[in-house]
Amino acid sequence: MIETLAFDADDTLWHNEHLFQDTQEKLAEIVGRHRPGEDIAEALYAVEMRNLALFGYGIKGFTLSMVEAAIELTRGRIAAEEIHEIVQLGKTMMTAPVDLLEGVEAVLDAVSGRYRTLLITKGDMVDQTSKIERSGLAGHFDQVEIVPRKDAATYRRVFDRHGVNAAQTLMVGNSMPSDVLPVLELGGFAVHVPYAILWAHEAHDADPVNERFHRLERLGDLPVLLRRLGASPRSS
Ligand SMILES: [Mg+2]
Repeated sequence: MIETLAFDADDTLWHNEHLFQDTQEKLAEIVGRHRPGEDIAEALYAVEMRNLALFGYGIKGFTLSMVEAAIELTRGRIAAEEIHEIVQLGKTMMTAPVDLLEGVEAVLDAVSGRYRTLLITKGDMVDQTSKIERSGLAGHFDQVEIVPRKDAATYRRVFDRHGVNAAQTLMVGNSMPSDVLPVLELGGFAVHVPYAILWAHEAHDADPVNERFHRLERLGDLPVLLRRLGASPRSS
């Protein structure tokens, strides 16, 4: 029986990846002043991956990676004022409105109070805390966890800390490697709700063969799936 629902946040509850993509286009425009027509995507991704272990996920790390990629791509010709522009792009991302996905509030209204609800998001503590506050959704969750990465060991620590049994937990998210696979590995249920844009780093190959794995087109279909799984809401 499912007693706990855990939710990813970025691109599961609110739009996120588009902010990165839009900002990347603005960076391409700045770099393009020195190298017209340059495709920056590959170079930026390479710098991000190189920096991931040091900076972690989040806007600050992304901003530093944009600066570094711009310096590399322009062979050091980028001007100080342009580096300032790039830093401003990062600051704008940090204060961008949090735009909820369709149907999120209705689903959280339907499940919170009936299940124990966790929000588990990876990234920078400051970014994620601020986004959660701006989303207005914090009140729907019994616990909020901001973690540096989402692997099986991290989920185990989070579940242990809150006395949650993985086998009675269902995790919902847009990323197979971060939200689905590690929770299945621990014996839990996992629901993949794909988002329109996927960061290359979150790509996966084949779907797992596991009866506890499900995919929904939209988060709004979760209550129907829960009924189908015979989940046991704690008061109904
Ligand atoms: Mg996500």
